[in-house]
Parts: sequence; C-alpha cells; structure tokens
Amino acid sequence: MIRLINLRVAVTVKTGLQELLEKKFPPLRGQIQDIHVVRRAVDARKKPNVVFVYTLFIEVHDETTVMKKLQKDKNFSVITPEAPEPIVQGNVPLAHRPVVMGFGPAGMLAAFYLAREGYAPIVLERGQDVDTRTADIEAFWKEGQFKPTSNVQFGEGGAGTFSDGKLTTRVTHPRLHEIAEYFVEFGAPQEILYKHKPHVGTDKLRTMVKNMRERIIEWGGTVRFGAQVTDLFIEAGHIVGVEVNGSERIDTTIVLSGVGHSARDTYEMLYERHVAMEAKPFAIGVRIEHPQSMIDVSQYGVMPEELGLGAAEYSLVYHDGETGRTSYSFCMCPGGQVVASASENGGVVTNGMSLYARDSGIANSALVVNVSPDDFGQHPLDGVAFQRTWERKAYELGGANYAAPAQTIGSFLAHSKDEETAQRGRELLADAGESSASVGNSLHSYEPAIVDRDLHDCLPDFVTSVLERALPYWGRRIHGFDNADICMTGVETRTSAPLRMGRDTNRVSPTVGGFYPMGEGAGYAGGIMSAALDGAETAIICMAKYKPVGK
Ligand code: FAD
Repeated sequence: MIRLINLRVAVTVKTGLQELLEKKFPPLRGQIQDIHVVRRAVDARKKPNVVFVYTLFIEVHDETTVMKKLQKDKNFSVITPEAPEPIVQGNVPLAHRPVVMGFGPAGMLAAFYLAREGYAPIVLERGQDVDTRTADIEAFWKEGQFKPTSNVQFGEGGAGTFSDGKLTTRVTHPRLHEIAEYFVEFGAPQEILYKHKPHVGTDKLRTMVKNMRERIIEWGGTVRFGAQVTDLFIEAGHIVGVEVNGSERIDTTIVLSGVGHSARDTYEMLYERHVAMEAKPFAIGVRIEHPQSMIDVSQYGVMPEELGLGAAEYSLVYHDGETGRTSYSFCMCPGGQVVASASENGGVVTNGMSLYARDSGIANSALVVNVSPDDFGQHPLDGVAFQRTWERKAYELGGANYAAPAQTIGSFLAHSKDEETAQRGRELLADAGESSASVGNSLHSYEPAIVDRDLHDCLPDFVTSVLERALPYWGRRIHGFDNADICMTGVETRTSAPLRMGRDTNRVSPTVGGFYPMGEGAGYAGGIMSAALDGAETAIICMAKYKPVGK
C-alpha cells in the first residue's frame, strides 16, 4: 500500500481525488485501484485561502513501478497499515458471567468486545435508557425538574450522549479505527473515519448507542438500566459479587468498572472497599458563548458556507506567568448550546453540546484553569469535595433552582479584586454602553435560566484572577473574544476525574482482585474515544486471562 502525506487541496476544488492525483502525479495515471482517505485536516493559516491537507492510502496495480518513479518525492512511502492485535482467550475458567459497571463509552466498548467474543457480560447502568433519559433531561432543562438517577452524566451512553460528540483524541492506537468503524455501522457519519476533527452530534449519538446496545444483547449480553452497583462483595482480597440497588446480589469474579467521573457515591463506596486510588489534578472554570459568525470569520476569514465548510472551532491556551497556572479552552462546541449537567441535588454544573449540523449560531466553550491536590488536599476524595463546594456555591448564587450564575466579561473584569483590572473592566463597559453590563442582553443558551451574578463568588480567586488575565490575551487572538457583552456562565467543574484508581500491568486493581478500573472515572481517559479505547482494551486484556463461562 502506498501512503501519500501532505496533499494540499484548496477547499473550493470540486475535482475528485483520483482525477486530481493522476493530474498532479503522472506515475499514478492508470494505476489507481482504490483510494482511502486516512485523514483530512483543514489548514486556515493563510485565510481566506483555506486548504484541506490529506493523508491517503493508495492501492495501485504495480506498486514497485509506481514507487520507482515517485521515490524522490518524500511525501510518498510504502506502508503496511497497522492492524489491531488479534484477540485471544485465556484458559482460566469463569464460574459466573463478567459484570460491566456503567454504560458510558468505556463500559459500552468493554461490553461490546466481551459480547462479541462470547463472554455474555451483564451490564449494570444506574441511569435510564436513552429515550427515557432524553425525556428526563428535557424536563430538567425546560422546567428545572432534576433527577439524580437520570441526567446528563448518568444513563445509556454515559456522559458523552448529550454532547458535541467530538471524537478527537491525542491517543494513537490501531484499535481506534476499528472502534470508529463500529460507530459508523451503528449510526455515526462515515466522515468520522477520516476527518482530523470528527464529530457525531448528540442527535446521531443517541441512535448510535441504542444500536450498539441492541447488538450486545443480540450477542448474548444483558443490559440493565436503573441498576446501580451499590457495593462490592470481596473475599480474601478478590471480588465475589456485586450488590445492585442496595438489595440484589449478583455473583461474579470479574468486574469491569467504567463509572465515569461523576459517580461520587460510587467513588466513596469503592474507597470504603479499599480500591486503591489517589487524588489527581483537573481544571475548573466557566462556559463562554460567542456568535458563531465571529469565530467563523476569525478562523476562516470568510463565512464557512463560502468554503463549503462547517462551523469553525478554536483552541486557546494561556500560561499565567504570575501563578504558573495554565488556562485553556476545553470541549469547544461550534454551533451548539451550554447545557445544565448536574448529577446530584443542589449543584450547578455547566457543559456544552451540539447537534450534528452545528447550526445554533452560538459557539460555546469551557474556559478552565488547572487545579491540583496542592489546592484541595491529598486525600483521594478531596477533589470531589472541592468540586462540590463550587457547584453548591453556584447553585445558591443562582437562586437554588438550577438557574446558573452568569456575567458579561465587562462586568466580570469590573468586579476584579485587582484595581487595574477593575478599571479596565469599567472602561470596557463605558465604551460598549450600559447594556453590556447585563447578561440579560447577551447571547446565551443555558436552560432552565441564567441570572446576573458575580462569578467571583462561585470560583476560587486563583481561578478568576488567571481568567482575568487570559481573556484579553485571547482577545488578541480572536477578534471580539473578550468584548464587554460576551456572556460567561458558571461553573464548569467536571473536566476530568478528580482521582485516579490504581491498576497493575493486567489492568487489575492492586488491592481488589478481579476489579478492573477503566475509562475517565478511573483516571485513564479524557473524552469519548479514549474512554471507548480504554474500555475495549481492558476487556481484551481481561479476556486474555479468562475463558467464557461453560467453555
Ligand atoms: P461516562 O461516560 O461518565 O459513563 C459512566 C457511566 O457509568 C454513566 O452512564 C453512569 O450512569 C454509570 N455509573 C456510574 N456509577 C455507577 C454505578 N455505581 N453502577 C452502575 N452504573 C454506574 N468528550 C468528547 O470526547 N467529546 C465531546 O464532544 C464531549 N462532550 C461532552 C459534553 C458533555 C455535556 C459531557 C457531560 C461530557 C462530554 N465529553 C465529551 C466527555 C465524555 O462524555 C467523557 O469523557 C466520556 O463519556 C467518559 O466515558 P466513560 O465511559 O469513562 O464514563
């Protein structure tokens, strides 16, 4: 197989790839059998001349002859595409079916591979199936009726179901492509197989997770909703069963745990049962919203429709010289909305999602600052307590009804404890006009409601002060980013797990035999794809030791 990298094609070019390749590289004329787009990135550095940058695998009739003629071009090489390792089954017999805790990306992919290989897993998911969950979440967003058992964090598909469905990951692994192919089979758009920054959108994700569940059941798995693992039964340091909803017992010697970063009661239970864990850094901050057109023009130079592209994204980083902390944009959702993402009573949590079309006209992103155990304590559960403190402050500040505190940038800066910053905020407001001081006049999408409050009252000073310095810095990168009337909503606290569970080289907890911590909640993933991969690989490593029940 021939690989071609760095093929640059203007986004406006409509010619097919085969014609284009044959024109540009004469040795390929009459030779091409098939073309696979491995990656397609967008390069907008010389806007408005925006180009696609392709990596292609090209199958040709006579590879040796073609490569002889192209050998001087360093962008061409001969490669053997890396295939994922074959799955092997071990010989340790299992008396009971394996249990998978949680049906987010990690649990779903673990269960999928276990079911595919004949291990008939039992999936226990505390939340509801995606249709029931969608209705519960709508009731929360529209009427403020919050359900701790069924929400944006808990239920079929996990935390990622009501999301932008960005599938970007920094992890590289041959199995990622196989997982993406399954996602396409179950309803994700074909383009996720090659786009540099693929996304599915919450609408397509909901179909995808349902189809995946049906396949797991077809292959002999069981998927139960409203089934929370409330305790572990451990004998002589090894799992012998799990307790469901405080009453039922299921015997098992294998538990693959993908409970996500929001299952705080489960974290506490696992801590009580001596599952090894330690506190780890994460990040907290706010959500910011801009007109999508502002971001589009800044990134592409023109509106994306003129180039045949979708809504533009951004990624920003600021290193704060004064504190040594880093602030960055996180989970940016083009053409989306800010969503209420609480998972327990009495807390306000923000996040972002979008539909596949990304056409709401609003760009939103988290702006967060890194925090570490030095800020909140070294006990494994101190990070949870820290998150909860700020989520509760936001809840009280918003009026104790899940309305979120929000503030315009002008007002935020004007309320700074630093007099120079506050003066700049007042000047910004004076220049922009009185109306820019109130979020009521700004572009915003959080439901059930936002209320005008000072965000300094629901975030630590070491976070707000860094954000105050980061905003004007980013305003120099994206014109209008720090305009006085731009709305910020608090608080964003669930960027990643506040702890990490230990696991040995076989991915088993070093303190509880047969317990496999995996995914984001265990501290081994950040995002849909990496959690999915971690779940799949954990199941594969587990299968390498055991054989299915009755085999
Ligand atoms: P989760 O998805 O959190 O799943 C854990 C599951 O375990 C949950 O369904 C929970 O109900 C269940 N559970 C917990 N405790 C128990 C128990 N005791 N018994 C039984 N079940 C239990 N990532 C991206 O890559 N791209 C995005 O665009 C993106 N957008 C996001 C938008 C939102 C609104 C949110 C909230 C997150 C977003 N993320 C995104 C992050 C992504 O969703 C997570 O990284 C990913 O879902 C983690 O997968 P996981 O399987 O490890 O955990």
